[in-house]
Amino acid sequence: MPRARCSDELSAIHSTATRKEDRPQSPIAVMDSDEYRKRGKEMVDYIADYLDNIRERRVFPQVEPGYMRDLVPDAAPELPEPWDNIFNDVERVIMPGVTHWQSPYMHAYFPALNSYPSLLGDMLADAINCLGFTWASSPACTELEMVVMDWLGKMIGLPEHFLHSCKDFPGGGVIQTTASEATFVCLLAARTEAIQRYQKEYPDLEDAEINSRLVAYCSDQERVFNIPVNTVWRYKVVTMVVVTQAHSSVEKAGLIGLVKLRYIESDENLSMRGDRVLEAINIDRDKGLIPFFLCATLGTTGSCSFDHLKELGPICEQEELWMHVDAAYAGTAFICPEFRYLMSGIEYAHSLAFNPSKWMMVHFDCTAMWVKNSGSLHRTFNVDPIYLHHENTGLAIDYMHWQIGLSKRFRAIKLWFVIRSFGVVGLQRHIREGVRLAKKFEALVRSDDRFEVPAVRYLGMVVFRLKGDNELTEKLLKTLNSTGKLHCVPASLKGRYVIRFTVTATHTTLDDISRDWTIIRAVASEVLSDTTSEQHKAKVFLKDTKKNPDFGTSLLLANSPMTPKIVNGSFAAIFDNNDVLYEFAKKLQQLKLDVQESPGKAMRR
Ligand SMILES: *Cc1c(COP(=O)(O)O)cnc(C)c1O
Repeated sequence: MPRARCSDELSAIHSTATRKEDRPQSPIAVMDSDEYRKRGKEMVDYIADYLDNIRERRVFPQVEPGYMRDLVPDAAPELPEPWDNIFNDVERVIMPGVTHWQSPYMHAYFPALNSYPSLLGDMLADAINCLGFTWASSPACTELEMVVMDWLGKMIGLPEHFLHSCKDFPGGGVIQTTASEATFVCLLAARTEAIQRYQKEYPDLEDAEINSRLVAYCSDQERVFNIPVNTVWRYKVVTMVVVTQAHSSVEKAGLIGLVKLRYIESDENLSMRGDRVLEAINIDRDKGLIPFFLCATLGTTGSCSFDHLKELGPICEQEELWMHVDAAYAGTAFICPEFRYLMSGIEYAHSLAFNPSKWMMVHFDCTAMWVKNSGSLHRTFNVDPIYLHHENTGLAIDYMHWQIGLSKRFRAIKLWFVIRSFGVVGLQRHIREGVRLAKKFEALVRSDDRFEVPAVRYLGMVVFRLKGDNELTEKLLKTLNSTGKLHCVPASLKGRYVIRFTVTATHTTLDDISRDWTIIRAVASEVLSDTTSEQHKAKVFLKDTKKNPDFGTSLLLANSPMTPKIVNGSFAAIFDNNDVLYEFAKKLQQLKLDVQESPGKAMRR
């Protein structure tokens, strides 16, 4: 039997290959498999210790920009270095500058959780390291992705038309790198649809002419900027909360897709509503523009608020707009049926995306994205018309037509490992525990009448502030972050400075939350008793900033002599638009604000 012979041969190959003297020796390999086995086990131990003992580490590092330069040589080593030397540098060079996102005391941004099954999944995927651009480039890569995307779609209660297994619709799921990329991909698909639709009506119009009239919609947003201002000798950081619109990933998609973006003012619950969208669409049509895309957010970055899909959906349908739903953080919660009311109206969506890399314990990167009609992705990204056949044959998917890049990592493995290891029930338990702890924290805040919770709490995020002037809360946050004992970032909700408190860690306990609250209360007492003497100084500064008409209320929340190193211009929707940063940095310099110099070494440009 040929089959048996084949496996005999395989086992023969296997057994000789494990004898070291029989293995082919590579002239360039510096670590052979024996050493890899040993070092790999050491690394696994190091990782398990790191995560077990993470509470002992300062959650936010105490380093200045440029700290690493003094710790490493200026140029790469000429000769190979022993692994021990390299590995020992992790604690010396890396760890002092790490923000510990897996710490229960990390409450900033949104969670970015990992879990052991997820880490093991990538260990394997990295070893296989296939580039699954077509089905044939590694069939298991494509097929497992289709399987887990269907599982996940069912787990969060998506309508059938988003599933690969539903043969009546050309829909399906794909893993993208980030939520930003998912938004961009969907905007491009919507743009293709709109251009082709208009060309049918007006065959003389060029793509570019139609493109220049396209307009997209999303809710307004308020953003926090940490602006590095480089002068000749010094590196300074200015923090400001800007009361402006835009979810930065949507704004970015519009910028690079060369389409106009209209920001719709949210209602008092910070939710985008139908009437305002309709009004904007009508105004834009009167101007000769072509409304084509709306990005609704479920779980906004500032306050975890939810746009009203049930109102927005029918409007998009009637006005022929593609509705994309960005549920980057909140999407994981829909694994629990009791939270699905928050996505009611999802049946109207043309596409949606959420990040298992946030709350679902699948480590970064992993964005799950579904489309109702994969044909629009093919029409957008297909560089070989022959492949259009796939849309109908449904025999195999070539994911290269569903994304911007050609290659893709085997990310489905970590998702598969996590879903199977926890089971739906285990994941539900994890989410409910996060929400329970957030509720508990909210109750603690409400029990102290120096504090207020100015927006409804949704899921695992609480926003809170000290009653009174914004600068009190700002000072509270800065002092808290400077202790390194816990880490939060601010947001601005309709002009009010708030602290966002997200329950982030996989192993956060009620004791952790109580500990954090004890620290917050103690620091608040300090801040409140200090303020009487310092009030004068701070008030003068803020009053000055209010005078500038360019900024309206935005500078109310800007830099003060206590500007913290709370964020480093890196993560998520709120911090990543460099052009805007540059513009504001310029304006700030014009304003001659009293910018705080960061102590320590001057940093080169
Ligand atoms: C986190 C977040 C993003 C950005 O996610 P990336 O995957 O980093 O691009 C976008 N939108 C919302 C609502 C988010 O919470």
